[in-house]
Amino acid sequence: MFDSVIIGAGVAGCVAARDLAESGRKVLVLEQRDHIGGNCYDEKDEHGILIHKYGPHIFHTKEQKAYDYLSRFTDWYAFGHEVVANVHGKLIPVPFNLNTLHMVYEQEKADALEKKLIDAFGLESRVPILKLREHEDPEIREIADYVYENIFLHYTMKQWGQTPEQIDPAVTGRVPVLISHDNRYFQEPWQGMPLHGYTLMFEKMLDHENITVETGVDARSRVTFSEGSVSLDGQAFTGDVIYTGPLDELFDCRFGRLPYRSLRFDFEYYDKPDYQGHSVVNYTVSEDFTRITEFKYLTGQKAEGTTIVKEYPFAYTGAEGEIPYYSIANEANQKLYEQYRGLVEHIPNVWLLGRLAEYKYYNIDAMVLKALELTDKIKKDKEV
Ligand code: FAD
Ligand code: UDP
Repeated sequence: MFDSVIIGAGVAGCVAARDLAESGRKVLVLEQRDHIGGNCYDEKDEHGILIHKYGPHIFHTKEQKAYDYLSRFTDWYAFGHEVVANVHGKLIPVPFNLNTLHMVYEQEKADALEKKLIDAFGLESRVPILKLREHEDPEIREIADYVYENIFLHYTMKQWGQTPEQIDPAVTGRVPVLISHDNRYFQEPWQGMPLHGYTLMFEKMLDHENITVETGVDARSRVTFSEGSVSLDGQAFTGDVIYTGPLDELFDCRFGRLPYRSLRFDFEYYDKPDYQGHSVVNYTVSEDFTRITEFKYLTGQKAEGTTIVKEYPFAYTGAEGEIPYYSIANEANQKLYEQYRGLVEHIPNVWLLGRLAEYKYYNIDAMVLKALELTDKIKKDKEV
């Protein structure tokens, strides 16, 4: 009855389902949560404020293809996302940029340092903090040390339980020092929020005559993977299966658990129009949480009250109710991942897609493009 089964209804699963459905395939989507959208899911809380249940999600991309694809299912509330760090009570723009420099140093020194940074790297360049710390000029290293200590060290310790040197440099490289006066968190040309929320966007994506969605279903109770074959509800299934969940869990963690970082989200509602005046404030030198998001500043919603969320990171253990949010990139974990991937290679027509199944730190836009790349391959291999 179905040509394709997709496990997980996050960005990866929804885009893949839609694209395969449009090629004429009958697609079954199985999602274990009681809703679609994966970690991008948003909903109105009991006070009518649109919240992101799994932490703040801002769409940003330099890839027109990703923007155009999602724009088929939503209009946009376009805005330039800005973040400030709370450093001992003072709010400064992050990523650290030339404006931040002028807030941290007195004018004459800041002017001289600004010139030095522009001469060294060029205006509009992006310099990873670990690179900046290696610079030969002691004055540039002094700035780097300030940024390292006040923006990166404590936040990274909270988020990853490790120092910036101990984690994959690509992670801190996501938030480089900006040799520019741009206060935005992302510099890509398209950024903003689906005008009526992510959930509605994904509902529209899955609204297709060839797509059947079942939520509240752990796919492992319906789909069985064994060497060389797959079955769906006890019957041999020879169509394509796209898996977007954690790969170790597909095989009962038989080689041990793949390590992830998880988060606890504490939501608070305030009966006043404003809490912090910013969409996101990062706590880079104090507190146990990493950041506070005030949703109305992300979504542009007008409301009398306001809802915020604090994020508390911890090491994922696999306990009931915990969600694996961030893969931890290092050699040992990649090796373990490859062991699991080896098991899938013996099962025909099973594809791994997504932040969990590929054990990669993807943003939404990259996920859209990856999903379309995979479905293109599936469509080329087999016409229906
Ligand atoms: P997911 O959203 O995790 O979806 C996977 C789905 O599979 C889940 O719904 C899960 O329940 C389901 N599933 C797993 N196992 C099974 C099973 N056995 N049976 C059935 N269903 C199953 N990206 C941005 O571009 N901008 C941002 O601002 C941003 N902010 C983020 C903030 C946080 C706190 C986090 C954690 C991520 C953020 N991201 C952001 C990244 C973004 O969330 C991911 O790129 C995107 O969600 C990945 O989609 P996915 O489909 O791979 O995974
Ligand atoms: N980071 C930091 N301080 C900040 C912002 C980011 O130390 O104020 C580091 C931290 O290690 C974080 C990484 O940069 O995990 C990437 O930040 P990003 O905002 O991209 O993380 P995400 O939104 O994906 O959690």
